[in-house]
Amino acid sequence: MRHIVERGTKRTMSVGKIVAIGANYTDHIEEMGLKVPDKPMIFLKPSSSILHSGEPIPYPKTGDVLHYEAELGLVVGEVAKDVTPEKGLGIFSHYLLALDMTLRDLQEEARERGWPWSTCKGFDGACPVSQAVPLGDPSVLADMPIRLSVNGEVRQDSTTFNMIWGPARLAEIVSSHFTLEPGDLILTGTPAGVGEVERRDTIEAGLGDELSVTFEIA
Ligand code: MG
Repeated sequence: MRHIVERGTKRTMSVGKIVAIGANYTDHIEEMGLKVPDKPMIFLKPSSSILHSGEPIPYPKTGDVLHYEAELGLVVGEVAKDVTPEKGLGIFSHYLLALDMTLRDLQEEARERGWPWSTCKGFDGACPVSQAVPLGDPSVLADMPIRLSVNGEVRQDSTTFNMIWGPARLAEIVSSHFTLEPGDLILTGTPAGVGEVERRDTIEAGLGDELSVTFEIA
């Protein structure tokens, strides 16, 4: 069972399901040549894909084009089903920085064949995460800088303000499909600037002023 670690206390929490949102930033939708959807695209990543800062990201043997996607991750703190707009953000206990690592060549094949994204986004190491920061005032989520560099070169530099469906709305929508449980993780999508990484590249990514993580591709 993979886990996440609370920053400061080192308390660990088992990770349940990882619910990820595709196409949630308009600038990323444009760069992928997609149309803005009328509802969020939702997929699942297995908890076995979790990796921690300091662990290298193993280059998967199953594909040839590995991409990074920096994302705000929200940790569910309670059982939640059919969350109301009033409750919204109240179901989240922590936030973290997550990378939605993606084998773009397998994803392209999946699109062509009408297959799910399980293998292109669910392989071991496909969800590197930072430590989890306790969510005090949830309004910080509304406009949080999100950035990613590869080998020191800035590739993604945006803010969660640019999301189409924000965290509270995602709580409503995702919980209309699945019962959310403590330790579940919602990945909220990535801004523009996604791209490829090679073996021995170093990814540095961060949220806000204080949260920064580094991963090497092995
Ligand atoms: Mg993503």
